Amino acid sequence: MIQLPVLDTDYDLVDGFHRRHDYLRISLIDKCNLRCHYCMPTDLQSVYRKDQLMSANEIFSIAEIFVKLGVKKIRLTGGEPLIRKDIDDILDRLSVLQVKLCVTTNGILIDRHINKMKASGLKSVNVSLDTLKKSKFSAITQRDNFDQVYANIMLLVSEGFNVKVNVVVMKNTNEDELTDFIALTEKLPLHVRFIEFMPFEGNDWAKDKVVGYEEMLRNINSHFNIEKLTDPVHSTSKKYKIPGYTGTFAFITTMSTPFCSDCNRLRLTADGKMKNCLFSKNEVDLLEAFRNGHELTPIIKSCLLDKKATLGGQPDPNQMENRSMILIGG
Ligand code: SAM
Ligand code: SF4
Repeated sequence: MIQLPVLDTDYDLVDGFHRRHDYLRISLIDKCNLRCHYCMPTDLQSVYRKDQLMSANEIFSIAEIFVKLGVKKIRLTGGEPLIRKDIDDILDRLSVLQVKLCVTTNGILIDRHINKMKASGLKSVNVSLDTLKKSKFSAITQRDNFDQVYANIMLLVSEGFNVKVNVVVMKNTNEDELTDFIALTEKLPLHVRFIEFMPFEGNDWAKDKVVGYEEMLRNINSHFNIEKLTDPVHSTSKKYKIPGYTGTFAFITTMSTPFCSDCNRLRLTADGKMKNCLFSKNEVDLLEAFRNGHELTPIIKSCLLDKKATLGGQPDPNQMENRSMILIGG
């Protein structure tokens, strides 16, 4: 007898490949207080005017629609989300939604907002830090904020947050620091995530700058005995730990082993465009529709039905057409 696929008729956010989507990443702003060369093009032309960005109210109203459709987790990102002047207001408003609220930040401004972060029920914070060396930090980011970022990671740990440290690994840049990052997990409850370098407009991506997961694993294996952990459903990462260590480490393998078949993520850019995939060329303008009083649910569902099976339908990294990472929101 032929087995027919089970259709998820009860759930609203299902795409043409039966993937259920319950995770929304919202970019709050296209600007940043760092200049990471893999993210922000040096000749970045377009930055949005204030009226092109979603207001705190619009962010809440659009997020609420996604939550009614089944979203269970919202991550705020950017640009740098904590440089938005109304970030505390945004956290306040989103805290009333029945979702797991998370933030991805470069860490510089955490001490200024930590009380509001706690009050909004936020428990999980991802902080980006690509090197443990001050001079290299300045070379990668064009800014001198290593001490602030490191101190704020320690602050988050001491305040009991679940802290992930995002490390974009690139050839001849920081591939020599994998074991130093893992050493941090001996005493600290940190979850280090090594991310393969991905192509976006203006970031000078080339295949030979990518350090693949297997190469990283070989390197780490030659220094430590490592243990594979079980990866939760929808996980984008492959998790490991050193037996006896407090924290863990993982690999985000978008370039070598994409995890699209299990994808549950949707994105909203700071100017209110819905992307059904990080690599999708097509975007749908939810903010304009919202401002014109249109119902968003059918627009969201139709955007989701257009989602491609893998990598936004752009399998060749050398030919990808997309915005720069800072304009999409990582
Ligand atoms: N400013 C915040 C931060 O740095 O964490 C949030 C925005 S940033 C675009 C989100 C994540 O995307 C960061 O962890 C960053 O390292 C990652 N990222 C940026 N460009 C990338 C690239 N080309 N390849 C892989 N990861 C990238
Ligand atoms: Fe800013 Fe984050 Fe991009 Fe770095 S990765 S330039 S911190 S948005």
